[in-house]
Amino acid sequence: MPKIYLAGTPVAGTPVAGTPLGDQEFVVQPDSNLLDALLEHGHKVPWSCRSGHCQSCLVQARPDEAPSAARSLLSPEQQSKGWLLACQCLVQQDMHISLHDPTTDGLPARISEMRYLADDILLLRLAPERPLRFRAGQHLVLWLDASLARPYSIASLPADGELAFHLRLHAQGAFSNAIRQCQLGDRLYLGSAAGHFHYDPAWQDTPLLMLGSGTGLAPLQAIARDALLAGHEAPITVWHWSRADTPCYLTQPLLKLADQYPQLRLHLRSRAELPSDLTQLRLASRKTLALLCGPPAFIEQLRKPLFMAGLPGRQILDEAFISRQ
Ligand SMILES: Cc1cc2nc3c(=O)[nH]c(=O)nc-3n(C[C@H](O)[C@H](O)[C@H](O)COP(=O)(O)OP(=O)(O)OC[C@H]3O[C@@H](n4cnc5c(N)ncnc54)[C@H](O)[C@@H]3O)c2cc1C
Repeated sequence: MPKIYLAGTPVAGTPVAGTPLGDQEFVVQPDSNLLDALLEHGHKVPWSCRSGHCQSCLVQARPDEAPSAARSLLSPEQQSKGWLLACQCLVQQDMHISLHDPTTDGLPARISEMRYLADDILLLRLAPERPLRFRAGQHLVLWLDASLARPYSIASLPADGELAFHLRLHAQGAFSNAIRQCQLGDRLYLGSAAGHFHYDPAWQDTPLLMLGSGTGLAPLQAIARDALLAGHEAPITVWHWSRADTPCYLTQPLLKLADQYPQLRLHLRSRAELPSDLTQLRLASRKTLALLCGPPAFIEQLRKPLFMAGLPGRQILDEAFISRQ
């Protein structure tokens, strides 16, 4: 039976302050999921999507012990240091593991702005203590502490200096409730930016069809702004659906952008109009590329209408906000 050797980490629920931490070891069944094994043994490893996408469940192993399936979604630099995604790791041999410590492994950032864009949508602006490399539209994990972290899309551009996020706050959400208690100047920790959801300069002449629901607009508007600043000339059509009776939380900035760039077309709609809107989707050209963002059910709802409108699956790029519910 394989053994997990865990480097000096407190078990959840034990006193931490001033207590010297020893290594721990435990045996697991062969092919156990590493995330499940760590959680079962009381280690509060954060997790969110369990599909290798969000990167909340990073842990570090000896590089030769990290199975390739558990690290293939990480950057070459992370891989070379033995980082892996616990949710994607089947334990087949003894493993020496350290949990991710955001205070040493993450990038510290101070809260520089917290402002409500709608009743339940918070604009969170962070000033990182060192520059962060990212592309507009990618996501990263925000860590409040070693056990509370969630992935969020970056709503700002690298040229903006600070990092902006649009957080929909859920009544029962752990991160939502904790961030509500934060104040200007508080420190969070950032993971590395990741994901394929960003503008590609090769799309210059490609019409872009952007479809988003709720805070799915965060990366879409960032990608649209990035494209327009890069001189994108083909049409960019943004459809956004808000909850019934609430206007789009970015109406004013988007209207201003559309005034400035005639190739940007906006359809700011209510979610009640989504089914009828989907029957009327038209493509500007056969080359159109669709970018979809929002909850997984929203993205699935779009696939058939897009197919019916003549868009092959390879011309669809999506970012699903998978949550723990
Ligand atoms: C790649 C990626 C990027 C993301 N980017 C963003 C972003 O830019 N902005 C953003 O707001 N979110 C984004 N999310 C979702 C985000 O990571 C969290 O899942 C979300 O903020 C809820 O976290 P929480 O800790 O508040 O709730 P949790 O504690 O994780 O969930 C607890 C409860 O909250 C409620 N809840 C959580 N999510 C939902 C939901 N979608 N619909 C209804 N109820 C829910 C449910 O009651 C659930 O049981 C992204 C997710 C992924 C995977």
